Amino acid sequence: MAKTYKWLIVIILFSLLAVAALQSYLIYGDFINKTETLKKEVNTAFNKATAAEKGMRNEMLTSYFRELLTDTSKIEITAKYSQKDQRNIYSIRDKDAESPYTSISFEKDKSPKDLPDSMKIKIGTALIIESQISDVENRRVYYYTKRIGDRIHRFSDSLTVDTLILENNFRSQLDKRDITAGFSLKISDEKSEEYSPGVINTVQIPVGIRVEKPYVSAILENPFYDVLSKVRLTLIITVLILTLTATCFFVMLKIIFRQKKLSQMRDDFIANVTHELQTPVSTVMAALESLEKFDVLEDREKTIKYLAVSRQEVSRLSQMIDGVLQSSIENNDGLQLKFEARELIGFISEVITTYDVKSREQILIDFQHDCKSVYANIDRLHFRNLLHNLIDNSIKYNDKVEKQLRINCVYIDNKLKLTFSDNGPGIRNQYQDHIFEKFYRIPNKDIHDVKGHGLGLYYAKNIVSLHNGSIRVKPDNGNGTVFEIILPADASEKKK
Ligand code: ADP
Repeated sequence: MAKTYKWLIVIILFSLLAVAALQSYLIYGDFINKTETLKKEVNTAFNKATAAEKGMRNEMLTSYFRELLTDTSKIEITAKYSQKDQRNIYSIRDKDAESPYTSISFEKDKSPKDLPDSMKIKIGTALIIESQISDVENRRVYYYTKRIGDRIHRFSDSLTVDTLILENNFRSQLDKRDITAGFSLKISDEKSEEYSPGVINTVQIPVGIRVEKPYVSAILENPFYDVLSKVRLTLIITVLILTLTATCFFVMLKIIFRQKKLSQMRDDFIANVTHELQTPVSTVMAALESLEKFDVLEDREKTIKYLAVSRQEVSRLSQMIDGVLQSSIENNDGLQLKFEARELIGFISEVITTYDVKSREQILIDFQHDCKSVYANIDRLHFRNLLHNLIDNSIKYNDKVEKQLRINCVYIDNKLKLTFSDNGPGIRNQYQDHIFEKFYRIPNKDIHDVKGHGLGLYYAKNIVSLHNGSIRVKPDNGNGTVFEIILPADASEKKK
């Protein structure tokens, strides 16, 4: 049986660990996938942010070019239809007479031959600006005239990357994707492969207007919180399910072990009781046989002695049966109590005086109380049994030559506090939680001979709680055992 338990525990523990390992593996896989997706998203966001920032600078350059081209005080644009090419040829030159001119025509230019010159120049200017846009995008500055070229050169060199705008663009791109991690920008003239653990480095993007340089990249710090927040729900549910399963498993184990211990104790109890029941039965049988067979009846003195022995044994038997009956009170609902209002100080004094004379001789009972009359609703029979049990124990387990028991009665705030302090060995703190359990006996070789079934205190606890009171043993201080009972009571008048 014990082996089966062991295997069961090992299998369940193994299954729990296997489920935990599998779940961790799956969550880890999910985490890696989500990290990769996050990296891709961050790069897309950064590409868009840099493109927008660079596009803005390109636009500034284009409008500057437009301004220069349309400044008729400095630039002259003329148009002439070429029969050979079947389209207009535009000439651009600085108005400064010595400067050479540049001629240009556009394949897509379908403007008719006989348009007025002013219209032709308008169309030509628009086409030149349009072609300049694609030149700028390809990092080229076309020298239509020296003046325009020099100025565009200077202007484009002043258009360096605007980090503030780039930061804003990137932040809003990240926000759109629900990425909350903070970042910093890195600008460098070299391309470099960088890898730092715990951060995400974006690709380096060239953001110069005329040349590749400089390269801009972003570094995201603590991006994994974003990934974690995406797997958080799965993680929480997994941890919850595992905790729940593990808790159920351990509670189940605890119940199994308690049941096992209880059944072990029950077996001990049955063996013990059977053995004890046999002794008085055989003694009585022997006495009866003697009376019957060996003419003992003739001898009056012997007859009286045998009858006395039989009576004593039968009364022991009856006590044992009482004990077994007491054990049948399970969950407080096996027993019907008859409550009546009783004056307790008098009742306890009477119980002590009428307590078995022989037993009373073995102990000095000192009863102290701070009030004359206190009333409580009690069941006389069971309350008496309860007091007897506590007095019995203070004799049974006491190894002193002069055994003493002090019963103290204090009334405070409608409660009666009853303490039973003996001068015995006391109950070590490690056992105190168990002594009220059914069938529990303290494992102690020294008191091995003391008869008992582990039911007295169990019964006492049940009876006290049926009286709406509480019983506890006070922490061991090396001066014997102290039991404390608290009962609802009334000092002023008699109850119904
Ligand atoms: P039992 O029938 O064994 O006396 P109880 O329920 O009355 O069962 O007591 C449970 C255990 O508590 C006993 O086995 C004993 O070891 C311990 N115990 C009870 N009362 C005392 C006491 N007054 N002094 C020392 N130990 C005690």
